Amino acid sequence: MADVLFTNARIFDGSGDLPYSGDVLVQGNRIARVTRTGYGARSLPVQGAITVDAAGAFLMPGMVEAHTHFSWNDQPSLDAIQRMPPEEHILWCAEVAKRYLDMGWTSCVGAAAAKPRLDVVIRNAINDGTIVGPRYLAASQEITVPGGLGDTTQPHLPQPEFAFGAVVSGSEEMRRCVRMFAKYGVDTLKINLSGESITGMASEMSQFTQAEIATCVEEAKAWGKRVAAHARSTWSIKQCVNLGIEVIYHASFTDSETLDLLEAHKKEHFIAPGLAWLINTCHHASQWGLTPEVTRKMGYHRELEAAVESMKALRRRDVRILPGGDYGFAWTPHGTNAKDLEYFVKYVGMSTMEALLSATAWGGPMMRMGEGQLGHVREGYLADLLLIDGDPLADITVLQDKARILAVMKDGAFHRRPPVRAARTTRWAA
Ligand SMILES: [Zn+2]
Repeated sequence: MADVLFTNARIFDGSGDLPYSGDVLVQGNRIARVTRTGYGARSLPVQGAITVDAAGAFLMPGMVEAHTHFSWNDQPSLDAIQRMPPEEHILWCAEVAKRYLDMGWTSCVGAAAAKPRLDVVIRNAINDGTIVGPRYLAASQEITVPGGLGDTTQPHLPQPEFAFGAVVSGSEEMRRCVRMFAKYGVDTLKINLSGESITGMASEMSQFTQAEIATCVEEAKAWGKRVAAHARSTWSIKQCVNLGIEVIYHASFTDSETLDLLEAHKKEHFIAPGLAWLINTCHHASQWGLTPEVTRKMGYHRELEAAVESMKALRRRDVRILPGGDYGFAWTPHGTNAKDLEYFVKYVGMSTMEALLSATAWGGPMMRMGEGQLGHVREGYLADLLLIDGDPLADITVLQDKARILAVMKDGAFHRRPPVRAARTTRWAA
């Protein structure tokens, strides 16, 4: 792997400072040097290094998707996802993994797989170079209760193979289930703590007993695993804080007690609300029978309003809100994930700076690789970098356009090389 020197870049380093012009030298898989134009020695060509004249293009850390389901297959229902045969399903996941990298997501946090080992196999294949994809943390299936979110079995077809999730009842079944996924090698246990109106159990309902949840957390921690929860209801969010569930997905319905709790424990949690799913289910899914009328009846319009208010309140309290969430349905296809950043600005009131930081600086610790590894353009950090034609701080939507993502580098290697003209012209000059 040749060293790479980016010159004349507009560097967004993930610190929260405004971008500055400068050069970045990548040696091996790490950022070896970051030089500001006008400060210190001018960057000289480095022997053997490929020089990329960024011509003023925006150089930023690779983005981190906090709630990824590679095995959701852009279909309109859980059934349609679950019924895909395993052989096709694994090929689908491999294809989707590449799509994430294409769109600048150099790290993704798995948030449940549709079959027990899909996520683990894909993570391993990425890591050993068999397939191309982002850094990935593999999840279990969604652990649920009979009749809860993810139990797609029919009364006459009760076999677990017909279930989208892993269906358990009682603490001992929970324990067995967690141990099974630990044996398979997952990084994360995903547990569905609240309902999901589209599946029949309302979002505000909570499905497990506290004892069952506590067993899940206890067993997961004994194996050194992380727990992530689908938690739309107020009660379920409180359980996450009280029982130490680090990753909270959705967090739609809060009260002041819940907000206080989250604020008091903000260093211990990450929130990924998945607003795109709510927004598109409410307003852009008529083609699949989910007209605004239908989704209003399901309660999603009320939930969207509640979720937006909750995220505004959490933002004011400095709780980490991250992009990602349930892409992989027909009306939220994989690859459109940067919509989340647009929605953070439009709906939650984040500045474009905050939205960018949520995908980079806050994503770093979400990947659990320790301090000083991911989420910044800084000396010593892993070289996960994007070169963007445009200024996401002026227009956050440029990150949704593949043509504007000129280059994607993961672990010091180009997944997509910058076009030759980037090295020749000043097309991207600020
Ligand atoms: Zn999800």
